[in-house]
Parts: sequence; structure tokens; C-alpha cells
Amino acid sequence: MKGRSLLMIPGPIEFEPEVLRALGAPTTSHVAPNFIETFGNSLELMRTVWMAPTGQPFIISGSGTLAMDLAGANLIQPGDKALVVSTGYFGERYANLLSRYGAQVTIVSAEMGHVVGIDEIETVLKADQYKLLTFTHVDTSTGVRMDPQAIGALGKKYGVLTVLDGVCSVAGEEIRQEEWGLDVVLTASQKAIGVPPGLALLVASQAAMKAFHSRSTPVSNYYGDWSNWLPIMEAYEARKPSYFATPPVNHVAALEVSLEMIAAEGMEARFARHKEFADTFRSAVKGWDMSIVPREESNSANTLTAVYYPEDLDGNDFRMKVVKAGVIIAGGLLKGKPGYFRVGHMGAVNRNDIHATITAIDHALKQCRS
Ligand SMILES: *Cc1c(COP(=O)(O)O)cnc(C)c1O
Repeated sequence: MKGRSLLMIPGPIEFEPEVLRALGAPTTSHVAPNFIETFGNSLELMRTVWMAPTGQPFIISGSGTLAMDLAGANLIQPGDKALVVSTGYFGERYANLLSRYGAQVTIVSAEMGHVVGIDEIETVLKADQYKLLTFTHVDTSTGVRMDPQAIGALGKKYGVLTVLDGVCSVAGEEIRQEEWGLDVVLTASQKAIGVPPGLALLVASQAAMKAFHSRSTPVSNYYGDWSNWLPIMEAYEARKPSYFATPPVNHVAALEVSLEMIAAEGMEARFARHKEFADTFRSAVKGWDMSIVPREESNSANTLTAVYYPEDLDGNDFRMKVVKAGVIIAGGLLKGKPGYFRVGHMGAVNRNDIHATITAIDHALKQCRS
């Protein structure tokens, strides 16, 4: 493809041609038998990808922020206490969102590049009874990764519902929702799930659904109310027609194709592939004598890497030279000095894409320094 460049940002990502073909296929009725099958199958495949055999999946038109909103709107009642564990940009967003629904929000946050310690979270949970805890699995602004297994265990120990913002991790990083006791694992289509932007996706545990069913006040968000959506998800899974709001027919068709490909690769193989690519990219970063934003390699994501610009480089100029070399990378999402850039390596990326990215950065560095 002449003039094609490689999109290596933390979403949207490069998509499989089969997925794009499904997106471009003729649109059917949302109650056509083949579409009912596609929707039902996609819901079932989500349980495989999320590793949540008894979870309740939801597929709703919208972006990742809607997925965050759905968990907040349906699980919070005015006055509920919520703990937001923030490692950057999207933690702040979650705190704002939850307070709109009347939650009393406590935030524990880490400095840029750091995780919030598990013992620090435990100290806060011990001191008060919270209804809900949210955390960003992979913080897209820094590439810092929290440990979902430890947080799931804390949730169980202290009787708190845990919400994992996995917009930058689901289908790339290891997540075993049910085994790890996580109550909501949410994402959007355009990141490691591998479908163009347009779908909010989440799986809720039985405990989360129970908390939802025992609300004493109605959900104040009309579009997002699970009372409207649960019967729709159940109907599609039972292969029956139903309607609340028109589903994004083409996007769901593309989702089915992508989820089939993810399931065929196998979750263990997929986790390992993302780790391999992240390791390859990070060793190139070491070779350039640059440093990554996460302070510890063990807290560094496998789906993206954030790298500080070396002092002798003009960050924007460097990034434009990488783009000219055919690879689109992202700038920083947090303001301040020193600046940094971000490279997404998730979803349908392959080894060649990683090497092409490394080569483009090499080339840009030589140009900047010549
Ligand atoms: C991208 C992202 C979001 C927001 O998703 P949108 O689709 O842009 O609304 C939320 N959380 C994390 C961790 C993300 O990476």
C-alpha cells in the first residue's frame, strides 16, 4: 500500500483486514437472524477473552468513557463511598465521573511513573467501608501497570466491588477476571480488542449484578441504565430478537471477527506475545540510552511504552521525524517536563511492526543528532 504508514499509538491501532471487511459489509437489520447469531456469539466470546465464565457481558455503542460511565451509573447510589486508585489521566476522569452520580470519592494517587502501593490501598480500605474501588490497569498516559490480582483479592477481603479500567489492557495484558475476583472489567473496541472506535464493552460479575439489582434508587443515566440493556443482552444470547436502542450492527459484526481471532490465538499465547513485543521494544529503548516513564520494569505495561525524550532532543521535532519515516507514534498525555512519547504495541501488531518502529526511531535519532 503506497503511502501507508504504521499506526503505533495507544489506540486506535492497526486493524486486521478481516475486521475491516466485516465493518464494511452491507448492514443488516438488528433483528435479522444472522445478526442475532453474531451478537449472541460475541457475548459468549467476551466471556472467553475476559476469562469470566459466569460474568454478564455488555456490548453498547460508545467509547471507553461510556464503559467507565456504565459501571459508575449502575453501581453507585448517591452517598456511596468510592475509592479511586489513580495512576494518571484516566484515574482523575473516573473520580470526576463518580462524583456526578453522588459518590463520596476518595482518591489515592501515585506520582507520575509510580504505582499506588497495594499496602497503601489496604490501609485506606481498612479505615472505612467503601462500596466501589476503581483502578486503571494500564495507565495510558504513562504506561504504568497496576496488579489486578492483588486488587481483586483486596476487594474480596474488604467487601468492595472492584472496577478495572482495562481500556488499554483487555486482550493484551493478563486478566483472569473471575479467578482474580474482579467485579467489572471494562474496555473499548479500538485498543487491544482490535475493532475501530465505537463500542463500549464490559463484563460484570454476579456480585456486581447483585449490587445493581439491590439498588434502592433508579439509575439516573437513562441510556446507560442496565435495566434497559440487560434484557437485550439476555435476548441476544438466547438468540431472540429484541430492541432498546439500535445496536451498531457493523461494529458488532467486526467485533465478532476480532474476538474469534483473539480466541483462536488463545489467551495465554496472546499474553505471551504482548510481553515479548514489550520486551523487544524496551530493550531497544535501553540501547538508545533513554528511560521509560514507569520507574520499575515490573510495573511497565505490555500494551504500550512511554519513553522520556533525551535532553538533547527537541521532542516534537524528533516525533515528526519518526512520522516522516512512516511510523505514527504519540506524544505525552501529561503536561510538564521532561516530555515523553508513547508507542502502542497491542492487538494485531506483529514482530515486523515492532522492528519497523524501532528502525524508524533509530533513523529519526540519527537525523536529529547529525
Ligand atoms: C483510552 C482510554 C480510556 C478512554 O477511552 P475512550 O474510548 O477514549 O473514551 C479510558 N481509560 C483508559 C485506560 C484508556 O486507555
